[in-house]
Amino acid sequence: RAARNGEDGVRQYAPAMGQVFLRRFQLVTQFRQALDSGQVEVHYQPKVSLPERQVVGAEALVRWSHPEYGRLDPDEFIPVVEATGLVDALTSFVMECALVKVRKWLDRGLRMSVAVNLSVRNLADESFPDRVAEALGRHDIPPELLTFELTESSVMEDPERSMPVLRRLHALGVVLAVDDFGTGYSSLAYLRQLPVDEVKIDKSFVLGMGTDLGDMAVVRSIVELGHSLELVVVAEGVEDDAARDQLVAMGCDIAQGYLISRPLSEDRLEAWLQARTVRRRGPRSETVLTL
Ligand code: C2E
Ligand code: MG
Ligand code: MG
Ligand code: MG
Repeated sequence: RAARNGEDGVRQYAPAMGQVFLRRFQLVTQFRQALDSGQVEVHYQPKVSLPERQVVGAEALVRWSHPEYGRLDPDEFIPVVEATGLVDALTSFVMECALVKVRKWLDRGLRMSVAVNLSVRNLADESFPDRVAEALGRHDIPPELLTFELTESSVMEDPERSMPVLRRLHALGVVLAVDDFGTGYSSLAYLRQLPVDEVKIDKSFVLGMGTDLGDMAVVRSIVELGHSLELVVVAEGVEDDAARDQLVAMGCDIAQGYLISRPLSEDRLEAWLQARTVRRRGPRSETVLTL
């Protein structure tokens, strides 16, 4: 409830703010137990190659089923968790779930990658690359099947601390992607300095492409820029055929969005994949294709 101007404006505002703080406080104090008790789970949103529409992997997106507040989206609780040391536990949890998933796929002949979103705290954590190496080894997973998505702003917050961590992650052979590209304040030239392999065009531009020539121009120039820097270009927020066709025409490499699939629980993802699996002979025994 917004504050109203006037004599009692402060009094109307105060209880609402109190509730916001109470809720945040609860989320901070309850998160650890939520992780341990199964309230937090990872959903997966498929990514497909263009123009083939072959499923190349999925992004891990965290969900919290809160006993009192119902399903919370990450945009509400990630900032709260980030303000505490618990983001390490969150990232480890998501990475662990994601690697178990990749291992299961590999065991049945599916070579698909998984992407994990990082927060700014992970990039400041010097021990993070070692934990990643340990987890990859423990699950016996080739590093190129793990992608980390990081936003421009998370790198920019403290480049002197994040750059060494990024370089060490990159040296492990994991794929690094800049998420939400185009929304930050960093210059295009800055992208050249980052040890990244992939750029993800922010969904706001992709969603606007159909109606806004400016958004279309932004998407086209990010595809061109990305390719000139030899990066893989991913578009998020692909909601309709028209957007997908335009991205194909621009030469965008990978698409993700509601057109292909919403983020799915593990069970629903497996059903989704099964329904699209094409069996073949050869080393890649199965391929998943979408319409
Ligand atoms: P993101 O990494 O940019 O993820 C894309 C968001 O767009 C997801 O929201 C996804 O559900 C949504 N989306 C996907 N396709 C479409 C589409 O076609 N149309 C529209 N309108 N939206 C689409 P979600 O799951 O709510 O996640 C929000 C953000 O929370 C993520 O943005 C990411 O920055 C953060 N996040 C999610 N999981 C994690 C995590 O495990 N760790 C960290 N640090 N951050 C996470
Ligand atoms: Mg992401
Ligand atoms: Mg994004
Ligand atoms: Mg985002």
